[in-house]
Amino acid sequence: MTPTDLLENAIRTIPDFPEPGIQFRDITPILGDAKLFELAIDQIISPYSTGDVDQVVGIDARGFIFGAAAALRLQAGFTPIRKKGKLPFKTYEASYDLEYGSNTIAIHTDAIQEGSKVLLVDDLLATGGTAAAALSLLKRLNADILESVFLIELDALKGRARLGAVPVRTLISY
Ligand code: AMP
Repeated sequence: MTPTDLLENAIRTIPDFPEPGIQFRDITPILGDAKLFELAIDQIISPYSTGDVDQVVGIDARGFIFGAAAALRLQAGFTPIRKKGKLPFKTYEASYDLEYGSNTIAIHTDAIQEGSKVLLVDDLLATGGTAAAALSLLKRLNADILESVFLIELDALKGRARLGAVPVRTLISY
């Protein structure tokens, strides 16, 4: 089996969670298996060597898990993008619309030096609203955004179309 097949087989789909009609893609079985977790990180960092990436940026909350492990492997720093109200220092914020209401995410204003080479990581690309907002924060900090990478992409929602010119790489598509 290919690495992608092994990861795909481990993802558990939970129907109607957290609300009716949503097929929730549960990645916790990957995290719980040392070999699969390592395989996922191997795949996320595969195009890069030490020195290629200055900061890995992870999106609240599952992006922290994959992003932090990837940062360690690349000997890069890790920067969290968090839900509004969680970061203690000065922040930039970006909002995006949800089906009902909106969400706001934030980054520390001094998290990333201008021109730093940044890799954006999250577990799943759905509508792309979260990732598009995260990219707007990174652009505001004048980061050199190498790529955004996701374990899972939900093709039908066309999230990648919202991410502009930044390259998008995903490991598994549904
Ligand atoms: P979006 O902004 O629509 O691209 O949503 C992406 C975020 O929502 C990611 O951080 C995911 O963790 C979460 N998410 C959205 N849809 C799902 C799903 N079907 N299964 C698991 N997580 C999801």
